[in-house]
Amino acid sequence: MSDLAVDQSTDIAPSTASSGGEAILSNRVRQIRMSATIAMAERAATLKHAGKDIISLALGELDFATPRHVIDAAHNAAQNGFTRYTAPDGAPIVKEAVREKLRRDNSLVYGTNEIHVAAGCKQVIYNALASTINPGDEVIVFSPYWVSYVDMVEFCGGIPRVVATDFESGFLPDPAALAKSMSHRTKWVLLNSPNNPTGAVYPRELLAQLAAVAGASPNTLILSDEIYEHLVFDGNTSTSLGTIAPELRDRSLIVNGVSKSYAMTGWRIGFAAGPEWLIRSMAKVQSQTAGNASSISQAAAAAAMTGDQNFIPIWRSALQRRRDAALEILRGSPWLRVPQVPGAFYIFVDVARCIGAYTPQRRILETDLDFADYILDEAGVAVVAGGAFGASPYVRLSFALDDQRLREACRRIVVACDSLASG
Ligand code: GLU
Repeated sequence: MSDLAVDQSTDIAPSTASSGGEAILSNRVRQIRMSATIAMAERAATLKHAGKDIISLALGELDFATPRHVIDAAHNAAQNGFTRYTAPDGAPIVKEAVREKLRRDNSLVYGTNEIHVAAGCKQVIYNALASTINPGDEVIVFSPYWVSYVDMVEFCGGIPRVVATDFESGFLPDPAALAKSMSHRTKWVLLNSPNNPTGAVYPRELLAQLAAVAGASPNTLILSDEIYEHLVFDGNTSTSLGTIAPELRDRSLIVNGVSKSYAMTGWRIGFAAGPEWLIRSMAKVQSQTAGNASSISQAAAAAAMTGDQNFIPIWRSALQRRRDAALEILRGSPWLRVPQVPGAFYIFVDVARCIGAYTPQRRILETDLDFADYILDEAGVAVVAGGAFGASPYVRLSFALDDQRLREACRRIVVACDSLASG
């Protein structure tokens, strides 16, 4: 384990079997699936609890410890009585911290009335979609996409319009394909750079083109999920939609959070900056559903965003080193096609060459789900099948774990691939 790392063993409890009564459930909830990343992490946890030697590359979270000054801030908040309800969409202390972060990192100036804070980006995005989608409204999502976008859109009664990107073009969206998919019903275009699951980082020029296409339709909003902003490699830079398209400020929602940059996944703090009318509505949704995110987490997030930022480049270099090691090992297998990874901490591996192959048990691999199952059974490594991200046959693996375990996991994947026989 590297000196930066803490114990990665997940705290997600093993899942319990469902107990019937499904017919009573709403159509809305029956339409969606359990988050595939979380489901695979639970599966890995169940196997670990049973004593199996499993390395989980399923869930996107850093293994680094939350910085000490952030933990101290949480401790102080708890000691000093910052333990009561706050405004549903965030206390002044955290909204001010978001303002400072946006000014410092993105040169963006927002008022506290234009900022929303909730329990993670997931809740922020849900509040935005729930505030705006009417039945039949369309939302454009580029695939491969983060697992929850499509389900959230459907849960809100919208229709996801999926626009594919491909391996050859580095999984970068094509503005012409976006233009073709837009209609008078397009309520949102969702952008995500650096991207989960592909690691693609949209160049400035491309982001500007995508914004121009989306912005040309006056009733369309643009959501830019920038949660992996600080995790870019090889000198790449990530650009905020707010910086590139200030003219679209009234229809843009910039989403970010502390989970990925500050190793704070469990603290659950995400935020958004956008037009006041939308922020007000998102607060209304939050006030009627969850209420405020934990006050103590808000204080911690404020300390993270306003305190020392010097560890970020150190973490970035550690991740780049891990990425390079993982890529080198995986590229050694003729069974896998492995992309460039300019950002985030995932590798989205093309497993098409494995489809149709036989396992040593003479089982045929028909889908990427079969491949993920095989890797879990044969290699004891948990990865997430591409279908959940709207692209098959692929698997996503996270390289946000300590160097030694990561190398071991990648070697095991390569060995398991070597044991396949062509169909
Ligand atoms: N964003 C992380 C991932 O993609 C966390 C899990 C989730 O929220 O789905 O693995």
